[in-house]
Amino acid sequence: MTVRKIYTLGEPVLRRPAKKVSQFNKALQELVDDMAETMRSADGVGLAAPQIGVSQRVIVVQLPEEYDHPLAGKLFALVNPEIVERSAEEEVENEGCLSIPNIIGPVRRALKVTVKGKDVRGRPTRVEAEGFLARAFQHEIDHLDGILFIDRVESPELLRRVTPEGEVVPLEAPEEQKA
Ligand code: ZN
Repeated sequence: MTVRKIYTLGEPVLRRPAKKVSQFNKALQELVDDMAETMRSADGVGLAAPQIGVSQRVIVVQLPEEYDHPLAGKLFALVNPEIVERSAEEEVENEGCLSIPNIIGPVRRALKVTVKGKDVRGRPTRVEAEGFLARAFQHEIDHLDGILFIDRVESPELLRRVTPEGEVVPLEAPEEQKA
C-alpha cells in the first residue's frame, strides 16, 4: 500500500466528472488499498479517486473508531456509487476536505442516504447511512462529479480557516493576526 499525493483545489482533475469503472481487477484493488492508506495517513474520513489524480468512480469512507456512530471504524470502499434514496430531512454541519486544506464551512446535506454501488470485486453493495456517515458519502460522491463542498456551502462568507493551533478564524484574516 502506498500513500499517494492528494491533489488540491486548482488541479483540473478535481473538477472533471470521473469515469465509470468497468474492470474489477488487481489494479482496482491496489487503487482502493492506496486510497484507504492515503485517507488514514491524512486523518480524513473519506477520499474519492480524483483526489489522488485518478479520474475513476471510486470512493472510500471510514469514520474514526472513536467516533460516536454505530458504523464507526468500518471501511467502506465503493465503486460506481450512486445515491438512490435521500431523506427529505436535512442537516447543516461544518465540512472540510483533504483537497481544500484547513478550510471549513457549513453545508446542508440529507440526514440519511442509501448508496448503491459495487465492491472492489464487482459485487453489488448497498449502504444505508445516517448522520456523519451519510454526509461523508454525499461529499465523496460529489467529488466524482467534480463538485466540491465549497460549491455547496450555505454562503461563501461562512467559510472559515482552521489555524495550525486549531483555532477557527475568518478566511481573510492575515497570518500576522494570529499571534
Ligand atoms: Zn473532499
